[in-house]
Amino acid sequence: GVARTPLIAGNWKMNLDHLQAIAFVQKLAWSLKDAKHSFGEVEVAVFPPFTDLRSVQTLIAADKLELVHGAQDVSIHDNGAYTGEISGAFLKALACSYVIIGHSERRQYHHEDDGVVAQKTVAALKHGVTPVVCVGETAEDLEAHGPAAVPVGQLETVLDAISASDADAEIVVAYEPVWAIGSGQAASPEQAQQVCAALRAAIVEKLGEDAAARTRILYGGSVKSGNIAGFMAQKDVDGALVGGASLDAAEFAAIARFR
Ligand code: PEP
Repeated sequence: GVARTPLIAGNWKMNLDHLQAIAFVQKLAWSLKDAKHSFGEVEVAVFPPFTDLRSVQTLIAADKLELVHGAQDVSIHDNGAYTGEISGAFLKALACSYVIIGHSERRQYHHEDDGVVAQKTVAALKHGVTPVVCVGETAEDLEAHGPAAVPVGQLETVLDAISASDADAEIVVAYEPVWAIGSGQAASPEQAQQVCAALRAAIVEKLGEDAAARTRILYGGSVKSGNIAGFMAQKDVDGALVGGASLDAAEFAAIARFR
């Protein structure tokens, strides 16, 4: 099969200003260096608030840190009269490798629907920033439809938009059951595998075998150093999107050292 480089991604949400971010990234780099002997090919990414990106970019470049950075959201527009929005072009100019799209908190608090998530995904790709597309079911969805139907449906809308624009585009998918985010109640590794396999099958269907084999699918929801190994042992889980535990440098480094 295709070897997919594991991705351990830290979503800081609205935490750490740009000065705190500099101190944190330095600490994280040290923690990762300590860990270096015991983890091989793992990509580690941080997702600070927009206002931190320039500082984080500069620090990573100056100290040649083995880290990449991304943003937490992107506009559907390239530029213009859209007060408060951030263009994918601006993220690219700040050397963002990734952008999180459709996080459940944006779906919930900013009413982003699957159509907007699809548009944002296309916008990120247009500017050469790899989208990390978040999907996941609420507790009510789980009760009503079972585990995979809602996240697969959310992803299909995005895949249709991609296949219409650039079927060879690289995306990352993050399966984040909403009931597991910030709750301390992680999904079981078997639950995560079941849904991640269904998501990969949807990619096979919409974009083909090669795209599905290349695409990294992350699990997110109460990931910690104590439960990461179980997720990473699953065939269709290629990494983790980490919220709370990404704000503790030693803990996040320990997650990156999952082997
Ligand atoms: C998230 O919000 O993407 C997340 C996974 O949060 P937590 O790890 O805190 O559950």
